[in-house]
Amino acid sequence: MEEEKAKIWVEENIETLKKCLALERYRLNIEYVRLEPTDNGAVKAMRVKPLPQYERALIEIDCSAIVDEADLEEHLRHELFHLFHSPFELVYQVLYEMLEPEDLKIVNVLWGQAEELTVRNLERGYIN
Ligand SMILES: [Zn+2]
Repeated sequence: MEEEKAKIWVEENIETLKKCLALERYRLNIEYVRLEPTDNGAVKAMRVKPLPQYERALIEIDCSAIVDEADLEEHLRHELFHLFHSPFELVYQVLYEMLEPEDLKIVNVLWGQAEELTVRNLERGYIN
């Protein structure tokens, strides 16, 4: 998707999307970047970096991996749902400091899967 079109769509719709998800108090910084594929080679269109203690987050969007406005909305909603899980980042930060790299790899896999399942459940609840 063309970056300028994506920027316009996000500007016009982000506040409504936040309000629909009861996240209107969150302050978002949105950056348009090129994201590297994940370790398993999957294309990454968007990611969120939350600061839950301040109700802030950075959302990075790679427009080259977005098809159209519907795809953009779906990805953006998905990343916003991650904010519901973000208070657990405070736990993760402690684990990150405590664990050895090999143990942290295991925690990262489990953490990622648990977080995606949480987001998926929230998406299903939203759609239904
Ligand atoms: Zn996700």
